[in-house]
Amino acid sequence: MENQRLQEALHSLKNTKVRMTPQRHAILEFLFSARTHPTADEIYKALEGKFPNMSVATVYNNLRVFKEVGLVRELTYGDSSSRFDSNTSDHYHVICDECGKIVDFHYPGLDEVETLAEHVTGFNVFNHRMEIYGTCTDCQNIKKH
Ligand SMILES: [Zn+2]
Ligand SMILES: [Zn+2]
Repeated sequence: MENQRLQEALHSLKNTKVRMTPQRHAILEFLFSARTHPTADEIYKALEGKFPNMSVATVYNNLRVFKEVGLVRELTYGDSSSRFDSNTSDHYHVICDECGKIVDFHYPGLDEVETLAEHVTGFNVFNHRMEIYGTCTDCQNIKKH
């Protein structure tokens, strides 16, 4: 499943001007297999052993390229710790308050909220973001011990 999504991503990159490099391939592969919504720093740490000459800036630049061609989504949290999501279909996120883990959560899109917001405020609404916070099962287990 993940491999199929990676193949599709690689295929769609072929139709852009984005040149494939070993680093780029490794970053994409990591994003599509990890599914943990990693930060650029986490990707860098996971791959620095394989690519000693790679810098965090390189990772950032590649992520920006992937974002521009629509392969990844950037989840910003008002600080420098943007997270990157290789799942670009509509879904919500459950976030652990203890460790910051982000898990995909599928629920029908709350389109009515957008329509209502548009009616009430007169805004031209184009998107919404809902995040659910709690304590993940790993962190619950740590607390119990
Ligand atoms: Zn947790
Ligand atoms: Zn996600």
